[in-house]
Amino acid sequence: MTEKKDIRSFTIDELKEEIKTELGEKPFRAAQLYQWLHEKMADDFDEMTNLSLSFREKLKERYVLTTLKKLDVKISSIDGTRKYLFGLSDGNVIESVWMKYKYGNSVCISSQAGCRMGCRFCASTLDGLARNLLASEMLEQIYQIQKDTGERVSNIVVMGSGEPMDNYDNLIRFIRLITSKEGLNISQRNITVSTCGIVPGIKKLANEGLALTLALSLHAPDDETRKKLMPIANVYPLSQVIDACHEYFQKTGRRLTFEYSLVKGVNDNLNEAKALTELIRDQHGHVNLIPVNPIKERDYVQSGKKAVEAFRDYLEKHGIQVTIRREMGRDINGACGQLRKSYMESEGEVKA
Ligand code: SAH
Repeated sequence: MTEKKDIRSFTIDELKEEIKTELGEKPFRAAQLYQWLHEKMADDFDEMTNLSLSFREKLKERYVLTTLKKLDVKISSIDGTRKYLFGLSDGNVIESVWMKYKYGNSVCISSQAGCRMGCRFCASTLDGLARNLLASEMLEQIYQIQKDTGERVSNIVVMGSGEPMDNYDNLIRFIRLITSKEGLNISQRNITVSTCGIVPGIKKLANEGLALTLALSLHAPDDETRKKLMPIANVYPLSQVIDACHEYFQKTGRRLTFEYSLVKGVNDNLNEAKALTELIRDQHGHVNLIPVNPIKERDYVQSGKKAVEAFRDYLEKHGIQVTIRREMGRDINGACGQLRKSYMESEGEVKA
């Protein structure tokens, strides 16, 4: 038997082609099917009641309808932030976060189960990469959350577990589907993709004709310090990363975000603030300071409030736009990937 195809990852054009060549149905069925998959966010082919029974049977025979299983949700009593733990069909688990802002609801999605980038302060990478997520599995994080909260999602940040540039084709497919006018029609401008700095990926993204926001995880203003925190810095030196970011701005006109997680005694003194100012002075973007969220497996310590503010003040005084990230869901905290990790440990599913 040939493997069933993942129907929720098909674009509308691909679906039209399937309808024509594989299913022998009338062309208008493609739009109906797409609507069930991406607007009504169906969990089951049998929900698709305006499609004939025989058509639904054909669909079941040939395709899988990827859905995520809600395993857990933690809701913050401070600001309503929700952390979801979802199960994939093969037993892997991923996490996603829903945040409520004045301007709308934002979902932070994972792009991979685990991660192989090895950033020292990050929980997502401790057990390595399990696998890439399908476009449908990225979509489903948003669909399940929108159905669970009953509120429209307007913003997406690809800042959960995983490195989006390490799952590039599925990322682009996901973006085309989530922004399609026949689907949830989320604006490209309301989507942020965060990368640890994979230069070929940044350059490729610059040429997709998409108006996304790119966030670069910088975390240090020089290669030597950066290498201590992020192994990827051994592959792509900062000069190349910053050039690629510049190219991204020139091709897309989109200003960038430079993420900088402050780790006590590692990257948080004023010499580093000065070097950072020099590094990005001519770049088009702002700095987002994140006091590092300590994970129990490492002994990194969060910079004190005073150090964070002094760092911010230095940048501001020298003409760099800077914000300190508001900590959402403080009471249900746990850094990126920690919820998944603690779940896997309690289930005894950690793979070596
Ligand atoms: N792989 C992508 C996106 C995932 S991580 C990237 O590297 O950008 C999203 C952001 O959270 C990155 O800036 C990452 O470095 C940061 N991050 C991960 N764990 C963290 C922690 N424990 N404390 C502070 N920031 C963290």
